[in-house]
Amino acid sequence: MQRTRFLVASSTLFLSVACSAQTASTPPAADAKAPAASSAPAQASAAQAPAEEPIVWTQAELEAMSSEIQAQVADLRGAEFKRPVTVRLANKDEFFAYAKKRQDMTETPAKIDADETLAKLFGAFPPELDLMATTMEFLKDQVGGFYDPSDDSFSLMDQCPKGVARIVLAHELGHALDDQLFSIDSRQEELSKNTDAAYAYHSVVEGSGTSVMARWAVQHMSEIGESMAGMAKMQEDANASMAKAPMWLWKPLIAVYLQGAAFLGRTSNLMMGQTGGAKNADIDAAFANPPRSMEQVLHPEKYWNAEKRDEPVAVQFDASKLEDGWELLREDTFGEFLLAILATPPAQRTSPDFTNPTAMLSMKFTNDIGRGWGGDRVALCGKGKARYVRLVTRWDSARDAAEFYGAMSVLAGDLQTAAKTLAARAGEPTAEEKDAKLESGAEVEYGKDDVEVTIAIWSRVPQRERKMLEKRLAWTVDAK
Ligand SMILES: [Zn+2]
Repeated sequence: MQRTRFLVASSTLFLSVACSAQTASTPPAADAKAPAASSAPAQASAAQAPAEEPIVWTQAELEAMSSEIQAQVADLRGAEFKRPVTVRLANKDEFFAYAKKRQDMTETPAKIDADETLAKLFGAFPPELDLMATTMEFLKDQVGGFYDPSDDSFSLMDQCPKGVARIVLAHELGHALDDQLFSIDSRQEELSKNTDAAYAYHSVVEGSGTSVMARWAVQHMSEIGESMAGMAKMQEDANASMAKAPMWLWKPLIAVYLQGAAFLGRTSNLMMGQTGGAKNADIDAAFANPPRSMEQVLHPEKYWNAEKRDEPVAVQFDASKLEDGWELLREDTFGEFLLAILATPPAQRTSPDFTNPTAMLSMKFTNDIGRGWGGDRVALCGKGKARYVRLVTRWDSARDAAEFYGAMSVLAGDLQTAAKTLAARAGEPTAEEKDAKLESGAEVEYGKDDVEVTIAIWSRVPQRERKMLEKRLAWTVDAK
């Protein structure tokens, strides 16, 4: 049985996985031959595995290994590389420089700030969380290697043990080939305004990398068996930082690997997805015409089966009539997957045991509340320190809408608390603000019909202006 380790990635980084493929039976005999730790007693606790000597790579070794695996990946994917792939070794500082560069390319401070505020107002982040710092902290221990689509280059982390490196290479060279065939970055602009569609696309990207890696690993088990002991410490570090992060952050990053590979294999069964069962023609089709929502990824028949195809309902805001200096700071779509997290009571947003493959593969990425999603849009408006959010959700049936309404009504108190907390953290109101009677709260209500449920959340909003926002922030719904 194969075990796949995922690497957590920020949604626009194309990382590999601290990946391993490991037999579920006894550890490979080669482990016993690994040199015992000569120093570093701190590592003695690492799953009782003999620690490996620090690995010193040479550029020539890496290039030789890369060209060998490149040919194997091309063979597995049934396609040829069009251009050379640059390979290099990277240390942690270089990885952070890459992460920062991608961040600057794809995000703005205003967007990061707006996303952080949205997640806090919906109770998905604790009030004190710093999204940028948390993302970086989160990535720190996770990476085996990364592929940079902006210059066709692949970097392997210089600490990566050799057997692990081969499988990281299989994954990253899979990205490199897909990028040469389908230009991975070309949808960046469009996806920045729709997180749901972005996760769906990243499910194709990481699902493809995972699928090729899994097929490669099956064929090359003997070459990767030796370094499993060295994985233990890497895994412990990765798991510890993942377990500390909110579900809103870690779950998407796992979903795109696990559910992505399953989706490409036309199954929602995660275990089947991890065995590399996706057909090359299906991977190509999914890149050429990507799924538009996580709903399609979570329920592959809603993408692959023409009769059951389910495209998202478009909800569009019109903020042009806002008054009193209010402006639209951010619009986004959450989708079935994130709404299923929002509808999960906070006490149940626990982390699975990230070291246990069985626990990982029995994870659920949706729930009864999320199922039956039709479409949604969220708008964050702001003026000074005041924030106003409107989420509009559309459902396949009145029953689906009622389920979401019921679940979110139960959580309305948590949303109100989140709004008040955010307001309090913005500091003491001025005398002028006191006169304007600042309010913070949240409300779950039905919208225009029985398949529309909306949520409004406001923080430090003057009473009179909230009435204006309710009336003047308009939206329209397009049929599929
Ligand atoms: Zn990847």
